[in-house]
Amino acid sequence: MEPRRLAVVSNRLPVVLTRENGSWSISPGSGGLVTALGPVLRDRGGLWIGWMGNTVEALHHSPLPADLLNRGAAETGYTLKPVSLTDEDLKKFYYGFSNEILWPLFHDLPTRCNFDPGYWKTYREVNGKYAQAVVEHTDEEDYVWIHDYQLIMVGRALKQLGVSRHTGFFLHIPFPPLDVFLKLPWRFEILDGLMEYDLVGFQTARDRRNFLGCVKALKPGTRITGRGSVSRLVTPDRELLVGAFPISIDFMEFSHMASSAAVSWQAQMIRHKLPNRQLILGVDRLDYTKGIPNKLLALRNALERYPELRRRITLIQVLVPSRKTIKEYALLKQEIERLVGEINGEYTEVGWTPITYIFRSLDRSQLAAYYRACDMALVTPLKDGMNLVAKEYCASSTTEDGVLILSEFAGAAVQLHHGALMVNPYDVEGVANAIHEGYRMDLRERKIRMKALRRSIRKHDVFGWVNSFLRAGIAKDLRSFPHLEFFVPAPQEAS
Ligand code: UDP
Repeated sequence: MEPRRLAVVSNRLPVVLTRENGSWSISPGSGGLVTALGPVLRDRGGLWIGWMGNTVEALHHSPLPADLLNRGAAETGYTLKPVSLTDEDLKKFYYGFSNEILWPLFHDLPTRCNFDPGYWKTYREVNGKYAQAVVEHTDEEDYVWIHDYQLIMVGRALKQLGVSRHTGFFLHIPFPPLDVFLKLPWRFEILDGLMEYDLVGFQTARDRRNFLGCVKALKPGTRITGRGSVSRLVTPDRELLVGAFPISIDFMEFSHMASSAAVSWQAQMIRHKLPNRQLILGVDRLDYTKGIPNKLLALRNALERYPELRRRITLIQVLVPSRKTIKEYALLKQEIERLVGEINGEYTEVGWTPITYIFRSLDRSQLAAYYRACDMALVTPLKDGMNLVAKEYCASSTTEDGVLILSEFAGAAVQLHHGALMVNPYDVEGVANAIHEGYRMDLRERKIRMKALRRSIRKHDVFGWVNSFLRAGIAKDLRSFPHLEFFVPAPQEAS
C-alpha cells in the first residue's frame, strides 16, 4: 500500500492553549514525538487528532475563537482535528480508567489500582469518540497511527463502526507480565482491543514478550511466528504484527542546544551558585512510578554512610507538577517535601544544602542548562516505559564527562546499561553506593562510559524510531509519504 497521508491520534493535540487577559493563544507543543512526527506531517500533508485540553463545560464558560485551530495549524504546519470531551469523560476515561487502572497496573503496581467498574464504559465510549474523528478525517489510503494506553480500544471502535483503516498502535508505557495483567477485570477486552491493530509496537523486547505471554495464555487459538524484533500473530480471523521499537530523542537537537552560548552561560551560572561540589540531577514528573522517595532515602543513606560526600554533593531535584487533581499525587508531593525537609534539616551546614528542590516545569533550554551543569544524573524509576530524561542528559553531556545512574526497570536500561551505573531503585544501599561510586569515578572512566552512551543514543534517535515503526507497519519509511511542496493546512471546523 502506498500511504497517502499519516494521521496521528493521541490523547492530546500537540499544542498548548493559554488564556491571558481574557484572550486565547495557541502555540506548538514540544517533546520527542512532536519533533519526530512534525516534519512528516508538515511536509507531506498529515494530520493530528486529539483532545485540546479543555472540556466542553469549560469551553462553554470561555469559548475558543473560531479560528484558533487554524492559527494552531498555521504554527505547526499540519492539520489539527479536535476531539471533544466532557467533564464526566475526563473524570472516568482519563483520570479513572487510564490513570487509576491501566497506568498503575501496567507499571506493575496493582495495589495502586482502583478497579471501579464505572470507568470501563466511559473509557470505551471516549475511545469511540476518537474513532469517530478518525472516520471523519481520514480515508482508506491514510495510515492511522494511534498512541498510548488511553486509546487502546480505538481500533475495536473503528471495527464496530464498520470502517477499515490501516492502523498501527504504539504503547509508550510498559506492558505487564501475565500474572499482573490477569488482575485486570477487562483483560480479554483489552487484549482483543490490542489485537485489532495491524501493528502493535512496544518499547522493549520484554514488553513484547509479556504481551505474547498473555496472548498465549488467553487466546490459545493464536499462532505466533517469526523471530527477530517483529513477530506475526495469526488468529482465526486476522493477522497482525507485534514488535519492539524503543522510543528515543532528537539527539542532535539536545546536543546543539546544550553547547549553545546561552545554555553554556546558564550552566555556568548554576555551577557558580553551587561551587566546590559535584551536582547530581533528578528530573521527574510527580508520579509514584518515578521512585522519588526511594531516591531521597538513598541520598540520605549515602550522606550517612559516606561522610566525605557531605558538603561535596548537592542533589538538584526538579519535580514537574502532574495529575494535580488526584489525591494520591498530592499525598506523594507531601511525602517528597517532608523527606526533602528532613534531609536538608539533618545535614545542611552554612554554605551547603544537600538538596535544591524545584517544583515546577522548566522549559527546554533551562532543562538543558541543568543537564549540562550536573556531574551526575540520578534516574531511578520503579518502572518506566523508556525514560527520556536519561537519554536527554547524555545527549546534553557535550563535554562527555557526566555519569548516569540508571534504574534497571527503566526501558532505557536495555540500550544504556553498558555505560550507566545500573541500580535497583528499591535497594537503598545499592543506590547510595552508586552515588558514591559516581562521585569517585575518575575522568577517564567517565569519558569512556559517556562516549558509549552518546554513541548509542545518536545512532538510535527518535527519527530512527519513527522509521522503524513505519517500516514494520507499511514497509515504507518517512520519505515514502508523498511530498507536498506547498502544503496549506486544511481549514478546521470551529469547535
Ligand atoms: N521535561 C520538561 N520540563 C521539565 C522536566 C521534564 O520539558 O521541567 C520533559 C523532558 O525533557 C522529557 C519529558 O519531560 O522529554 C519527560 O519524559 P520521560 O520519558 O523522562 O518521563 P514521562 O514524564 O514521560 O513519564
